[in-house]
Amino acid sequence: MDEYISKIKSGELKLYALEKEMAASDAVAVRRKYISEETDADLTSVGSYTISPDSLVKRNIENMIGCVQIPIGVAGLLRVKGEYADGSFWIPIATTEGALVASINRGCSAISKAGGAEARILKDAMTRAPVFAARSVAHAAETARWAEDNLIVLKEAAESTTSHGELIGLTTYTAGTSVFVRFEFDTKDAMGMNMATIASEAAAKVIEVETGAKLIAVSGNMCCDKKPSAINVIEGRGKTVSAGVFLSDDLVRSVFKTESSLLVEVNTRKNLVGSARAASFGFNSHAANVVAGIFLATGQDAAHVVEGSNTITTVDIQEGGVYVSVTMPSLQVGTIGGGTSIPTQNECLKLLGVAGGADGNNSKKFAEIIACAVLAGELSLIGALAADQLVKAHVELGRGGK
Ligand code: NAP
Repeated sequence: MDEYISKIKSGELKLYALEKEMAASDAVAVRRKYISEETDADLTSVGSYTISPDSLVKRNIENMIGCVQIPIGVAGLLRVKGEYADGSFWIPIATTEGALVASINRGCSAISKAGGAEARILKDAMTRAPVFAARSVAHAAETARWAEDNLIVLKEAAESTTSHGELIGLTTYTAGTSVFVRFEFDTKDAMGMNMATIASEAAAKVIEVETGAKLIAVSGNMCCDKKPSAINVIEGRGKTVSAGVFLSDDLVRSVFKTESSLLVEVNTRKNLVGSARAASFGFNSHAANVVAGIFLATGQDAAHVVEGSNTITTVDIQEGGVYVSVTMPSLQVGTIGGGTSIPTQNECLKLLGVAGGADGNNSKKFAEIIACAVLAGELSLIGALAADQLVKAHVELGRGGK
């Protein structure tokens, strides 16, 4: 080990090239010791893990020195009545935020007592939007028109790169001489960002040859990947999914110790008016908490929590109770590819019964379960805030009576 550390120090061996010299687990250990010595930081805990680095260093991580461990708790059982997910599920949440699992758990309990939450996939389309440079605004318009008129040609080019993905549509946008072609893909059970990028590049090259517009970047940021954006809220990206549940007034009183009308008021003033006033894209209480917890547990791309936070929560008064819903326009999830095959993450997908490929059905099932878990989180927090309101009202009434 010391021999390799000396070579790294002398510059004879690059830190990232250790895997070429030895087995992945040894390379990780040498690198960790080197970093530990350089920084004087004890990395014993980082070096204590159960998953094998062999496949990780090939596709998930570079310059690996170990693993961070995040505790996983379960919330549930959660009764889901979706088109793809129909049953009761334990929801794995990886988090270090105390009280989060307990909060989601309370929401799950309310949903299950109400007979379950409905869930529906409204759209399923992962996007990638290359940007082209045209010569003039007239050329930009011609380029956009050519792309719109030639979906079949572009589909053939895109689908030559994948045996699972399908190019299902495109929309064009121009700004001066810049042309953006926002491709939409059905990526089946993969979240699909690599798949869609490779397929988009093949289609973009055809546009370049046919129109003479120059391909500048395979992602022109109108996709819009991992950034807050109105386009994802309006047009959707990945799965667009809704979940909803009717809670009777009695159930609201017994589980949340509050009144239905207060749930409506908290949701309206906080999640709708407050978010509008802040010009937020997230009209919800804490959807990102649930999305992040499930994403980390199941090997999703954590940066997509940004898009998962674009959730709108509604509470409608109905005869004898309230109907509470969440709509998530841009939930990017996969049950195959990316980090989903890492053993610990894969076990969490198995716990939900969605690990691996199933012609797109597993990723849709997973999205429905996540939407219901987000609904549980929303219910719990809105319920807690409404219960505080009720307590305050009682205190004030009590004082007023004295
Ligand atoms: P991936 O691990 O690159 O590829 C998944 C592959 O699995 C598919 O391309 C497909 O191969 C194959 N597959 C087998 N059974 C499948 C099934 N039932 N449904 C769908 N595919 C199936 O995963 P990805 O989802 O495309 O990309 C996710 C990764 O991209 C994550 O690691 C993420 O962090 C990263 N990422 C990349 C970019 C980028 O710009 N490249 C951006 C953001 C994130 P075939 O295509 O051959 O059919």
